[in-house]
Amino acid sequence: MDDENWMRHALQLAERAWKQGEVPVGAVVVRDGQILGEGWNQPITLHDPSAHAEMQALRAAGIHDINYRLPGTTLYVTLEPCLMCVGAMLHARVERVVFGAYDPKTGAAGSAFDLLQDTRHYHKVAAVQGGVLQEECAALLQAFFRERRTAASAAKQGIQQTPPPR
Ligand SMILES: [Zn+2]
Repeated sequence: MDDENWMRHALQLAERAWKQGEVPVGAVVVRDGQILGEGWNQPITLHDPSAHAEMQALRAAGIHDINYRLPGTTLYVTLEPCLMCVGAMLHARVERVVFGAYDPKTGAAGSAFDLLQDTRHYHKVAAVQGGVLQEECAALLQAFFRERRTAASAAKQGIQQTPPPR
């Protein structure tokens, strides 16, 4: 139940990404029921390929703790993390990772790659849980891409998105 509540919070952060025209993914880092850091996807806005929601949340949590290591934390993210974010989670020594929607194309927590729980890592993430509020998380992404496709095909057909000036 706690997991679902934090995932709902991450979903709200994902909405912020959408408002900025970014793929809607949100993340929050929690320890003992307290938020250490939160983030949402904004690589376009920040001209930063590493500005995924998880990276933003980890950066904020590190600043909060004044420590690049974040033991005892759980990271919640609405979409299965990519390999870059999995790498950062391992460096940060995140204890537990909970994600919403699965990402069969680039997910690195078991879908496309299984890096999060690879036994060769020095630090091991103690637990990984996927599929928390999966439907809500996936629906948000699907709605975003649907809207984008509609806008793109409208533009192709020369349909005006806004009424012409009088
Ligand atoms: Zn990522």
